[in-house]
Amino acid sequence: MKESAITVIGGGTMGREIAFVAAMSGFQTYLVDVEERFLANAREQLTKSTARMVERQRVSQEAVDAGFQNLTFTIDRDTAVRQSSFVIEAIVENLEIKRQLFAELDEIAAPETILASNSSSIVSSKLAAGLLHPERVCNVHFFNPVLQMTLVEVVGGEHTAQNTLDRALELSKAMGKTPVVVEKEIFGFIVNRVLMAIVGEALHLYEQGYASIEDIDIAIKEGLGHPMGPFTLMDLVGLDINLGIQELAAQEPNDHLVPEVSATLSSLVQEGKLGRKTGKGFYNYN
Ligand code: NAD
Repeated sequence: MKESAITVIGGGTMGREIAFVAAMSGFQTYLVDVEERFLANAREQLTKSTARMVERQRVSQEAVDAGFQNLTFTIDRDTAVRQSSFVIEAIVENLEIKRQLFAELDEIAAPETILASNSSSIVSSKLAAGLLHPERVCNVHFFNPVLQMTLVEVVGGEHTAQNTLDRALELSKAMGKTPVVVEKEIFGFIVNRVLMAIVGEALHLYEQGYASIEDIDIAIKEGLGHPMGPFTLMDLVGLDINLGIQELAAQEPNDHLVPEVSATLSSLVQEGKLGRKTGKGFYNYN
């Protein structure tokens, strides 16, 4: 089934690029945010990032022009949703706010319209509970930066209909992405779980004095062929973000992934050493 139109809700880092890729792939697309100034910023950021891609010959100017032509920036969420057969939510990572949004979408959208969440950590069963049509709700998890990263994790829960997953897979492919399916809901899906396992073990080895930060990074780069080691990566992502992820994972019931939050991460964050963005983290950048 070819989707009639796509609405992406939330014009931040993720939402604007998800919408642009959909628009560039030929879908009539709406990008929704709560205020015009956020949409103006989304347009400006997209103009800059697509210009860079054209300069590096990663995409043609014609494809970018077609993207902007197919993309409508709007604060009129309800009209956009009514005209769409697929809605992707990419708003703030807050369960209550997302729940409220899904309850409203469930009432506004036609019953066959898919409601997908791009959340990194909230499984869709938490958003589908109590809805009239939970069978059309799933997670469709894109990776940052969406213009470049091709992976999409499509995740269904017990409430999700097979047809919903099939349409999510089909849309991802039509957007030029490589989708994978996570057949049962689990915190962190595939990529972030494996990443958390690597990061957790790297912190354990360092904290217990088995190896230095530098040598662990060299070992993972040279031994596993990763582009950077786990400590360099944590500094890049931000130690506050890493700590937040560890805290969420540690709270998951019956989940062994992060038994306890790393003391090193906690104390670095307390000292305001958040990685590259503050000039200090596991490494110094000044
Ligand atoms: P962001 O803060 O950059 O953008 C969120 C946008 O949503 C803002 O423009 C905000 O104005 C808008 N918004 C908030 N509430 C809204 C509402 N009720 N209706 C319409 N718009 C609303 O956030 P982000 O980094 O793009 O993350 C969005 C989602 O994507 C989160 O769930 C996050 O977990 C997930 N995610 C983020 C990344 C990442 O690397 N940033 C990667 C994968 C998934």
